[in-house]
Amino acid sequence: MSDTPLSLLNRVFGYPAFRGEQAAIVDTLVAGGDALVLMPTGGGKSLCYQIPALLREGCAVVVSPLIALMQDQVAALRELGIAAAFLNSSLDGAAAMQVEREFATGQLKLLYVAPERLLTPRFQSLLEQARVALFAIDEAHCVSQWGHDFRPEYLGLSALHERFPAVPRIALTATADTATRAEILARLDLGAARVFVASFDRPNIRYRIAEKTEPRRQLIDFLDGHKGEAGIVYCSTRKKVEETADALKQAGFTALPYHGGMDNDTRRRHQEKFLREDGVVMVATLAFGMGIDKPDVRFVAHLDLPRSVEGYYQETGRAGRDGEPAEAWMAWGLQDVVTQRRFIDESDSEDAHKRIGHAKLDALVGLCEAASCRRVALLAYFGEASPPCGNCDVCLNPPTLWDGTEAAQKLLSTVYRTGQRFGAGHVLDVLLGKTTEKIERFGHNQLSVFGIGASQTDKVWRAVLRQLVVRGLLEVDHTAYGALKLTQAAKPVLKGEETVMLRAMEVRPARSKKTRLAVDHNDEDPLFLSLRAWRRETANEKGVPAYVILHDATLREIAARRPATLAELGEISGLGTKKLEAYGEAVLGVVAEG
Ligand code: ADP
Ligand code: ZN
Repeated sequence: MSDTPLSLLNRVFGYPAFRGEQAAIVDTLVAGGDALVLMPTGGGKSLCYQIPALLREGCAVVVSPLIALMQDQVAALRELGIAAAFLNSSLDGAAAMQVEREFATGQLKLLYVAPERLLTPRFQSLLEQARVALFAIDEAHCVSQWGHDFRPEYLGLSALHERFPAVPRIALTATADTATRAEILARLDLGAARVFVASFDRPNIRYRIAEKTEPRRQLIDFLDGHKGEAGIVYCSTRKKVEETADALKQAGFTALPYHGGMDNDTRRRHQEKFLREDGVVMVATLAFGMGIDKPDVRFVAHLDLPRSVEGYYQETGRAGRDGEPAEAWMAWGLQDVVTQRRFIDESDSEDAHKRIGHAKLDALVGLCEAASCRRVALLAYFGEASPPCGNCDVCLNPPTLWDGTEAAQKLLSTVYRTGQRFGAGHVLDVLLGKTTEKIERFGHNQLSVFGIGASQTDKVWRAVLRQLVVRGLLEVDHTAYGALKLTQAAKPVLKGEETVMLRAMEVRPARSKKTRLAVDHNDEDPLFLSLRAWRRETANEKGVPAYVILHDATLREIAARRPATLAELGEISGLGTKKLEAYGEAVLGVVAEG
């Protein structure tokens, strides 16, 4: 009986059905066609070339820039009983020779190769000897010279097509924008490829964006809802990474720092721990995460604003690849915006580039200030229409808007009366009627605006100020020590010709019953915990990450259904023939005891 894509999906991978466009993509490649696949992180890109690799004659050559990812993918494939290997700088000469021999003699179904190695004369001649089923180019946006992941070696990959015109190719990326897409098609010479654009929605991720008030406490409140779960906390600087990791450790979390200033060994050790152990919180700069395909990351937290919506989406996309409920939480404040604007202005790039930088930041700030569904705003940014999601902070807990016209007038007048020469701190002091040395020195206690905002708190005024800045009524002048200045847009408000609706401050703390995940994990289920303990032991014995053995989602389903026979167990998603053979009896044993 010959295999079909679906029978392989069921038998080898243990999954009941293809997701979205997977089936069409697989069919295209099996029939010898080229494909460009745009799918969000966690969408299921790997199966798109793994199944054709099994169905076509020869070995699939997978180009991937990420060594750690290659190793885990290969480990996962071997667990499924598939002949897979990788070639990269982590192998010694003898081990590499062994892999090369297996490749040339047709013993492999999938070979993962780093791009620089693929283009060497040595590997090119191996390609001539071997039978190649297909070329898969992962992280294909690395050909884009405008992107931040540019890899010069990727430009050489178009040569593959010239030398092996009959071998089908598939390029895959999670970067959605049309400019990058066009660049991939052109540079990889994929003009005839079918383009598959999946929905970029990640429905299992709940988005929450909060005003930064006491970031450390807000973070700990957020993490309290994720005890024992793995997640990533992003910070903008190395120093903040270290400090935050320390604070989390003190608060009882298993937290590890990760940033470019640490030595390679420590970094690698921390990464391994994050991948292999349950419930590690990685506190990291943005450098961390590319090439981490750990499926059970339950949350991604941002303590600082990323640079763009793309960046935010890519980073938050590292949560919940397994499709289980996950959370993306971010705390942001005006200072983030001011710092980034200065950063852009002070960089020595061309004006056009700076304008793009500001526009990207504007779009992200717009998302943060959104008074309607976050997901609608996010997907709209990627050109996708969608209805309100019911799974973001705005949908779950709609912000109240209040008429802030008078407040805005008071604040704008204070900026004006003090001469548009002072930063936020001083302006708010005047507004609140504080007596400081600076206020006395400038005689600002004599102004008509002195103390006109005393009936509101400093916190409320900061929220008003932030909203006026992000809406462009006020600007922060970096060349004048952060002085606040009025813009043209402030005039109609001051004259009373325009009303200003503002978002009310979040009154409840970041964590509350209402904002808990809709589907609470049954992590307290003792059977789930026993299964996890068994998995940890098994993974340790084999020296692979726990998820390579079985995913959380699979363990959870086992705990819920309590199968008594191998046949019952086999119906659970994520258990293919090999895994059933290898672990079936042990799992049934755990279930019987639990
Ligand atoms: P990507 O590379 O697009 O980020 P992956 O290929 O790593 O995503 O897949 C994400 C997760 O989804 C993996 O855990 C994978 O096993 C799972 N997955 C992919 N396709 C399916 C499917 N058809 N049914 C069930 N799970 C799937
Ligand atoms: Zn929503």
